[in-house]
Amino acid sequence: MFIKVIAESAEYWYSPKVDELPHMTPDGIKISHNFTSQTWRGILVPNMSDFRAVVSPYPIVSSTPALQVRPLQFLHWDDNLDLELLDKKVIGTLANDGDFINSIKVEFHPTVQCRHCNWEGIGLVVDTGDSYIGAYGLGREKLNRRYERGGLIETCPVCGEALGIGIVKIFPNNVNT
Ligand SMILES: [Zn+2]
Repeated sequence: MFIKVIAESAEYWYSPKVDELPHMTPDGIKISHNFTSQTWRGILVPNMSDFRAVVSPYPIVSSTPALQVRPLQFLHWDDNLDLELLDKKVIGTLANDGDFINSIKVEFHPTVQCRHCNWEGIGLVVDTGDSYIGAYGLGREKLNRRYERGGLIETCPVCGEALGIGIVKIFPNNVNT
């Protein structure tokens, strides 16, 4: 179930926490993911206290069937917002800009790696493509704000060296995949 949300001028299809991996947008376009439904159920859903799945609400115009897909993306919050409550507000069309101000669009990375010690983890990484439909420049603004308040994981959890990419979340690695 996706619900259209406009927040900070950006448009999303927002998915409240659901057990089944979404495969289709409300307008019938296939959703692509770089992970399996086991990963969805075993890693993503149990750790959804600070992120939710979203899809861009605009169709990709292409005559090539293979390109008529949209990626499943995520919004991550670092302000302890109660996302169970946000789900209810979105469903009731009561969500507002303030609910989304500390969210940032991220992608699931099956492998994030430290080039100093070769530590590997599973993480959510900031989408630097500024893909906020309807809100040009919002991505840069959000990334700057997140950086300024120390909301990025900047160092390797094992060796402490700089990781160099915009990681916002590392999943516990003792989960069942
Ligand atoms: Zn390291």
